[in-house]
Amino acid sequence: MSRIAVIGSNMVDLITYVDRMPNAGETLEAPRFALGCGGKGANQAVSAARLGADVLFITCVGDDLFADGTVANLEACGIDTRYVRRISGASSGVAPIFVQPDSHNSILIIKGANNSIRPSTIDEAADALRQSALIVLQLEIALETVYAAIDFASENAVPVLLNPAPAVADFDPARLSKLDFLIPNESELALLSGLEVSSVETAFAAARLLVERGCRHVIATLGENGALYVGQDGEWTVPGQRVRAVDTTGAGDAFVGCFAKFWSDGHDIRQAMQEAVAYSACSVTAYGTQSSYPDAAAFQTFCH
Ligand code: ATP
Repeated sequence: MSRIAVIGSNMVDLITYVDRMPNAGETLEAPRFALGCGGKGANQAVSAARLGADVLFITCVGDDLFADGTVANLEACGIDTRYVRRISGASSGVAPIFVQPDSHNSILIIKGANNSIRPSTIDEAADALRQSALIVLQLEIALETVYAAIDFASENAVPVLLNPAPAVADFDPARLSKLDFLIPNESELALLSGLEVSSVETAFAAARLLVERGCRHVIATLGENGALYVGQDGEWTVPGQRVRAVDTTGAGDAFVGCFAKFWSDGHDIRQAMQEAVAYSACSVTAYGTQSSYPDAAAFQTFCH
């Protein structure tokens, strides 16, 4: 089986369900609290691993209580945590989330130890990265680390995939041209291309522009409308699946993890996209982020 190396963030979601937000200086009792594992890097590593992929995850955790839970969760998914570094004196990445009765969310993100994923982290894992079939990146860590990973992949002829989330406006065009796969959602596609994206046609136009700038394969996710492809292999869409969506959080990460798993196993791009559209559609039918990612058996059941 081919190995996927994910370099990226991990976060612990601290979800407090509130009747209302407290005012400054006020203490309020809240009715319920839940912990969840998240972070874009971790989500993508977990979705690929749940499908049976051999995944190496490169990240940093703090030296607090959350670190143990994060590593235990990754290991329970069968992920290789050899390069999960504990950063002394740092907090783990956490996201306090306040959910109000109308489902309105207020979210804070504290990256904590994720800020310690540096270009030197890539050097430390160089041998393992060279043996990978695909390197998977997102933008929830320092941009200079993402650039270093793209340069490493290009110099060592290891295929590299970037999910440019959360979106940045000033991504280096020279790095864009070193990517094998760019997988943005509609708003990221608009920001990277500088074009308005409001329909499948405008998404195609924006994706074509990024291919002209040198990216080999652009795959844009289109929410309930599925995904489209523009690149060396032509152009096509994969229609979305009609499901009863209850929670779309983490759908984009489910898509990326699943695509990485099927493409690195030797499926062609169109087949891997079809699996990823189905897998991410399945994920939106359940609540939560990682808790909504089916394993291979549950995914098979969903597909038949
Ligand atoms: P998120 O930020 O919620 O993780 P995203 O904005 O990165 O998502 P989307 O394009 O919204 O990514 O969704 C990713 C994939 O998830 C889509 O390509 C699609 O296959 C699936 N998906 C999302 N929403 C729905 C839906 N309502 N019904 C069916 N499939 C969906």
